[in-house]
Amino acid sequence: MRGMALAADQLLDGLRLHFGHDHFRAGQREVVEAVRDGRDAMVVMPTGGGKSLCYQLPAVLSEAPTVVVSPLIALMKDQIDALLQLGVEAAALHSNLDAAEQRRIERAYRGGTLRLLYVAPERLVRADLRAMLAERRPARIVVDEAHCISEWGHDFRPDYLRIGEVAAALAPIQLVACTATATAEVRSDVAQRLGLREPFEAVHGFARPNLHLAAERVRDEKAKLERIEQLVDPGDGHTIVYAGTRARAAILATRLQARHPTMLYHAELSAEERTLAQERFATGAVRVAVTTSAFGMGVDIATVRQVIHAGLPLSLEEYYQQAGRAGRDGLPASCVVVHASADRRLPEFFIETAHPDAATVGAVHRSLLEEGYDPGAWRRVISRDPLVRALPDRAGDAVRELLRDAGVIQGGVALPEAAQRLRDVNARVARHRRAAEARFQRFMDYLAGRQCRHLDVVRYFGEEAAAVECGDRCDVCTGAGAAVTGPLLDATPVRQALSAAARLRGRVGLVKLARVLVGSQSRDLAGASSIPTFGALRGWREADVAELLRRLADAGALRVAGVPYPTVDITPQGVEAMRGDRVLEIADPRPGRRPAATSGRSGADTEELDPGAQAVFERLRRWRSEVSRERDLPAYIIFPNSTLAEIARRRPSTPDELREVPGVGEKKLALYAGEVLGVVASLAEAP
Ligand code: ADP
Ligand code: ZN
Repeated sequence: MRGMALAADQLLDGLRLHFGHDHFRAGQREVVEAVRDGRDAMVVMPTGGGKSLCYQLPAVLSEAPTVVVSPLIALMKDQIDALLQLGVEAAALHSNLDAAEQRRIERAYRGGTLRLLYVAPERLVRADLRAMLAERRPARIVVDEAHCISEWGHDFRPDYLRIGEVAAALAPIQLVACTATATAEVRSDVAQRLGLREPFEAVHGFARPNLHLAAERVRDEKAKLERIEQLVDPGDGHTIVYAGTRARAAILATRLQARHPTMLYHAELSAEERTLAQERFATGAVRVAVTTSAFGMGVDIATVRQVIHAGLPLSLEEYYQQAGRAGRDGLPASCVVVHASADRRLPEFFIETAHPDAATVGAVHRSLLEEGYDPGAWRRVISRDPLVRALPDRAGDAVRELLRDAGVIQGGVALPEAAQRLRDVNARVARHRRAAEARFQRFMDYLAGRQCRHLDVVRYFGEEAAAVECGDRCDVCTGAGAAVTGPLLDATPVRQALSAAARLRGRVGLVKLARVLVGSQSRDLAGASSIPTFGALRGWREADVAELLRRLADAGALRVAGVPYPTVDITPQGVEAMRGDRVLEIADPRPGRRPAATSGRSGADTEELDPGAQAVFERLRRWRSEVSRERDLPAYIIFPNSTLAEIARRRPSTPDELREVPGVGEKKLALYAGEVLGVVASLAEAP
């Protein structure tokens, strides 16, 4: 059977003959087949996962050439060098070529000798290139880094938007989208914007079973540095520490140097310094790299045993890409994030400056009008509108970029009458900002560790086939993450804390708010002691309430911000949770309420259930996972374990009784009351 299949296996022969690999990696064959057969496709695999092969092999086997749209000249060059090595004719058209070279490549394309032609998106949309493609039709257009077309992705590029238009003009033409980073939402956006027709979807390679994933929350910066010092252990390989800021990187590098050969690697190194650093790391002269941005480093070092994050990335994608540098050799490696509450501020600040509000956009526009022309860089603008006198250069330039994109600045001059365009700009910025905030919060949800971290990541990328709990390769599954997870709090203290924050919004800091909640007699509380939730958490230790507030901030329900004295504010998500429209899973911060390190996560919620209630609980869980699949919602969003356990204990038979259960708000009641009461009733009738 197998022998026969092999004999007639053209694709495998092609793989061996042209690429020298002796078998396909998981998922590759199916994609290659679909692409060869002319189907549109969406290929999602991590970097290094073998995406390129999925279109390169069909390209070699096709009559007509394959056009590949790729955003970076460096990426194109790498691929072309590798293809030429293999004897596959490939070339790239980009702005760094002289005219003769360009003509040679165009001739090769028209003459049919090129198998693959790589182009940048801005080249693809040029009239001469479009004419060339219309004249000699390619077999297909491949869009590499296809997530760049989505406004919801982390790497949106406006020049990607017109690819769909070019493809439409060539219709019908086969389209293949490739990306390493696309969530289900971004994927469907990409498919829609490119106009893919019933694409063959393949998501593969995100599961990394040899990695141990963990997160640890520490009190403050000092504790963090100490913890990282303890954790760093490159073994016989390497450790990468993502420091988050330059200042922290410098401190860590100095402290770690005492125990391991360590280097500092950051964005401002010169090209030579960078190469030298990479060499010393690769040869093992240096074992620990402390970095603010490890671009280009460690990618081909297979023996990274640890990736430690001391600062927070902007998304789960970014995190997993960085963490994924560990264990490329397939041997055990560990990825841990050590974080404190204050860490949230830096990414939030980034998101804020990258997405200016309407007032800022308006003031930059006014300043540029006053200036008379666009002086090229924000730092050269002299007559700044009072509203933006102190606007950082980076933010000012980001706004100029937006205004140019929207045509409010044209030919170096700001248009005076641009109200509608400014409104469009503001609406777009607001949308992008919400998407960026949601991506970051999704990462914070990963940190909170409500479910197996492997499961969480793989689901995030939409690789359903690999979505299983790891059992023992993450701190959530082993229970070692108890410092973050612990048994869940009832909705009541959570709502009380949120309500106090809402009353005092922006007026008190975190410690004072904690004092209000425990009903402290300290004099400085003055007016704050008259709010209804004053003393609502009497009996709690002040430090535990402060920790609760930090966890609420991690969950995105509270916001702690402001200079020089940060104050606590409630967020829109916090308001929803306070009203019971959203369930927050917050682990009880009180010591002694943590489960034993060996018990499963749900153990604490269910340990006091009698056998009857246990049966109801299990049935409710099964119901919840069905709903979760059907509606594509994380289970905890439907009801957390603590709520299911409470329903199982009380066995309500009417909507009113169900409403009494903590964690069941009006919205949940409307959505699920019928089904939940049905599940409870079905078991009540059973013998
Ligand atoms: P991606 O485009 O997903 O980043 P590539 O296609 O460049 O990944 O592949 C990464 C590496 O894996 C390359 O060195 C490539 O030669 C190798 N590779 C791809 N497919 C296979 C295979 N079936 N067997 C062995 N190696 C492979
Ligand atoms: Zn796990």
